[in-house]
Formats: sequence, structure tokens, C-alpha cells
Amino acid sequence: METEIMDKKIIYADNAATTRMSDSVIEAMLPYMKEYYGNASAVYRIGREAHQAIEKARKRIAKVINAGAMDIYFTSCGTEADNWAIKGTARKMAEEGKKHIITSNIEHHAVLHSCAALEKEGFEVTYLPVDEKGMITPEQVGEAIREDTALVTIMYANNEIGSIEPVAEIGRVCRDAGVLFHTDAVQAAGILPIDVREQNIDMMSVSAHKFNGPKGVGFLYCKRNLHPQIFMDGGAQERGHRAGTENVAGIIGMAQALEDAARDRDENAARLAAMRDRIQAGLLEIPDSRVNGNQEKRLPGTLNMSFSKIDGQSLLFSLDLKGVEASSGSACASGSLDPSHVLLAIGLPYEQAHGSLRITVGKYNTMEEADEIIRAVKETVAELRGQGTALS
Ligand code: PLP
Repeated sequence: METEIMDKKIIYADNAATTRMSDSVIEAMLPYMKEYYGNASAVYRIGREAHQAIEKARKRIAKVINAGAMDIYFTSCGTEADNWAIKGTARKMAEEGKKHIITSNIEHHAVLHSCAALEKEGFEVTYLPVDEKGMITPEQVGEAIREDTALVTIMYANNEIGSIEPVAEIGRVCRDAGVLFHTDAVQAAGILPIDVREQNIDMMSVSAHKFNGPKGVGFLYCKRNLHPQIFMDGGAQERGHRAGTENVAGIIGMAQALEDAARDRDENAARLAAMRDRIQAGLLEIPDSRVNGNQEKRLPGTLNMSFSKIDGQSLLFSLDLKGVEASSGSACASGSLDPSHVLLAIGLPYEQAHGSLRITVGKYNTMEEADEIIRAVKETVAELRGQGTALS
């Protein structure tokens, strides 16, 4: 997706971080900012219109994931949905003496930090290790389940390396054992097929801005009559389960984005995979480079690579100067320059994890951009290695 910002051409290749909103989404949202801007709880017309549009959006979203409309709870983002599902379920199950949670060591921090917070409250958490491709097996989950297990939470697809976990099979193991199963589907929604019934999913977190919808809105799918403890106290919105004035335009935009993505899923996935594979092939020509993660079961737009003797941050800054916007494995955004926990979990040595680059293409990228990305990365790696600024 080439855009011009202050006369500078930008190639945006960080679609796992966020995506550009589609025109169809913006158009769907506009009336709810300009005309029907009423509070959805109000009794007068513009409030009622907003309320009806929210309920319609709930049905549209539920249809895409094969859920009941009443099983969808709107939230402010994927992080909130994860926090609510995990902490709310754990605290509720604790009342029955169940204080054990199972997750993986490659989850997003929204999950890992929620689990860490629960550990401080006296819960016990099992962090299942992944293999070198970033995969969890249903057998691992089955073996970890105990009498006092309250919840299993395993992500559908990983945000850094794109590996796709066997959620349906994990869900089956949980169901057979009578344990609740939550999946963080923030990276999967809009890209991979989702059928909560067939995939044995009890709870699922989704965020609109990852599939060309607006930022600041998401939802938690929660199977009928399964209510995590209330997380947001206040008004009676979301049938009394999640207080707070609804982000009406955001909810409408999310429904539009999810429907668009479901309609175009196969076509988009094929395009994304073709671009990603081209970039991968081009970058593998760089000496001492490797692809991180599972190359068979991977999100179609995700590519994570390491280049030995290269510092990920220097690579990113140099690429930015060339107009290519991507991401690295270092969690610098959180104020730390430590390599990513995901890359360390799949067994990458510290130095290689540090030199990683995440390129995630989206529906607005083109093959021409793929070629420009290859050129820019090859040039930058050669420059950094040649300048002696590379790691020794
Ligand atoms: N879970 C995963 C796997 C993610 O990739 C992200 C965002 O990067 C989140 C949760 C958090 O979502 P949000 O940005 O909507 O809070």
C-alpha cells in the first residue's frame, strides 16, 4: 500500500500491527458520526437508530462466525476482550475452587500479562512451551489439564511469526475434559475461517483494526449463558455485562469490515500469500538469513525473518528512511530492547532473535511493492553489514 505522507512515498508492510480502513468501512461509519450520533441508550430517534444499528451489527458479526447474536459482547479492543475473558472467567471459576489456567508461552502480552496478574492473586498458570515452529499440540493441552483447571487460553494465530494453532482440536480436548476454552483470534479474524461451533470455541477475542476496520473497537464472543465476571462496572449496556457507552460508529465499521473480509477471504489470502512468498524468496537470497516460524501453517500475509549479525532496530530505522514501514522482533514499543518472547520461545539464539524483521502484507499491498521491499531490505542489510554497524 503506497501512500504519500509529506511528499514521501511510504510502503506500509506492518499490517499485523494495524491496517488501513477500507472505504466501505468509512462510508458505513459516517452516518453514525454525522446523523445518528445519539447515545444508543437514549429513547429519542437518533438514539434508537444507533441502538438498532448496533443490534444489526451484532447479528451480522454473529453470522460470520456462526454464533448467536446474543453471544457477542462489544469491547474497546482485543486487549479488553482478552482481559475480560481470562480474568473474568478465572475469578468466577475460583468460586468453585478452580484456580489453574493453561496458556502458551507465545501469547500476546494481553494474555500473558492477564495471566501474570492472576498469578499475583493466587492462581497457578501453566505456560505450555511451543516447538521450533511455534506450535502447541492438543495432546500437550490434554496432559496439562487438571481437576482444578478453570480455563485454557491458546491463540488462534501468532502475531509475530503467524503460526496457526490447531484450535478446533484443542477446543475438542477441552470440551471432552469439561474445561472452558478461550482463543485470542485477534490476528486470525478476517483472515482465517472461523466457526465457533465447529471449532469448539467457548470464548474468543477479536479486534476490528486488524482487518481494515476502525481502531478502538473489538468484541468478545462468549458462548450462551457463559458469563465471565463483570469487568467494567457502570451502566447496563451489553445486557448488563459490559458497561460503557457503545462506540456506535466503530461497531458498525467492525461489522462491515468483518463481512467484507469474509466475502473476499479466499481471494485476499491467495494474493497475500503470493506477495509474502515472493518477498520470502527474495530475502532468502541474503546470506545467513532464515525464516522464523511454521512455513506450512502460517497466516498468509506474515513473514518473519532473521539476518545474522544485524540489529533489528537499525534495520527498521534504515528501512524507514527508505520508506518501508515494517516491524522487528524487539519489543522496543514497550520500552525494552529485549528480543521477542516468541522468537526466544521457538528456540532462536538471542543474537538471531535480535536481528529479526517482521513484514506483514495486507490487502492494499501490491506485487510492485513486494519487489521494492526486497530491494530495500537487501540493500539495507548489505549496508549495515558493510558499515561495520552490524552486530559482531
Ligand atoms: N492479541 C493479539 C494476538 C494481537 O496481535 C493484538 C494486537 O496486536 C492484541 C491481542 C491486542 O489487540 P488490540 O490492539 O485491539 O488491543
